Amino acid sequence: MKVLITGGTGFIGSHLSEYLLEQDHQVFVIDDLSTGKIENILHLKANPNFHYTIDTIMNVPVTAELVDRCDVVFHLAAAVGVKLIVESPVRTIETNIKGTEIILELANKKKKKVVITSTSEVYGKGKNIPFSENEDLVMGPTHLGRWSYACSKAIDEFLSLAYWHEKRLPVIVVRLFNTVGPRQVGRYGMVLPTFVKQALSGKSITVFGDGSQSRCFAHVSDVVWALTRLSEKEEALGKVFNIGSNEEITILELAKKVKSITASKSEIVFVPYDEAYEEGFEDMPRRVPDLSRIQSLIGHQPSKDLEQIVQSVIDYQVSLVRT
Ligand code: UDP
Repeated sequence: MKVLITGGTGFIGSHLSEYLLEQDHQVFVIDDLSTGKIENILHLKANPNFHYTIDTIMNVPVTAELVDRCDVVFHLAAAVGVKLIVESPVRTIETNIKGTEIILELANKKKKKVVITSTSEVYGKGKNIPFSENEDLVMGPTHLGRWSYACSKAIDEFLSLAYWHEKRLPVIVVRLFNTVGPRQVGRYGMVLPTFVKQALSGKSITVFGDGSQSRCFAHVSDVVWALTRLSEKEEALGKVFNIGSNEEITILELAKKVKSITASKSEIVFVPYDEAYEEGFEDMPRRVPDLSRIQSLIGHQPSKDLEQIVQSVIDYQVSLVRT
């Protein structure tokens, strides 16, 4: 099969490219390198089934050509990372909404299947843990930049499902929960690569707030596996799926775990949210997916526990220092 991955040089996109090549698919990537990195795909360039274009998906003629060539599109190109989102809200909103509009419109011309990657951020301040796909989405006020990301992704979801209902475009919407692993960088605010980098360099490990907020971390290899299996299922069309892990850990416990696995002397410090992000920043106290819908369709079970996940991030960062 011929597969187009938008955002294919990013953290998740590059792992998806690698996995699909291993499955003997032809992979086409488009990425503007805004947050992706060419280093993430260097090892794939020699593969004759791998093709990449460095350009933005907003360049419609280029994107149209790629969509036409492929059988399925994994749309991963998006503004990512809470830090980036808070700092560059215009870019976030425009990239997420315009980019998805373009992909859906182009895919619709020849009814190409599209997997739209949304985010667990859309559950916002919802309190019904675990979050299931039909849950209400509870957003915060518009003056807080963080919510622009959740709302822009919710619009993407509405538009995708509208294309399915009104035009019978085959779409699948996935809400990715916290995904971690090699190649993820802390530059855009993600917690695990940040903690690992701090621990390895002996710098303070910065826990935002009091560290009682919790998350569930899935390894990117499990996420990529789930994305691929879902894309093959006829029953997934027109539906929304949570993808992630439901093994919950508080951020303070995570900091302690990273410190202990790396045998680091770093101290753990607490940074108020206002200082870490923006004044009035609202964090989610808990975020746990209900995985029953995806499990009943593809039997998704995580292959790695949290220790192994943390270790894989450490190994990656150590390998970067060595090269
Ligand atoms: N966080 C932290 N220290 C950091 C970066 C993040 O304590 O250096 C916290 C952040 O406030 C949030 C959690 O870790 O509560 C997960 O943050 P991330 O940005 O990785 O993902 P989110 O779940 O917020 O999208």
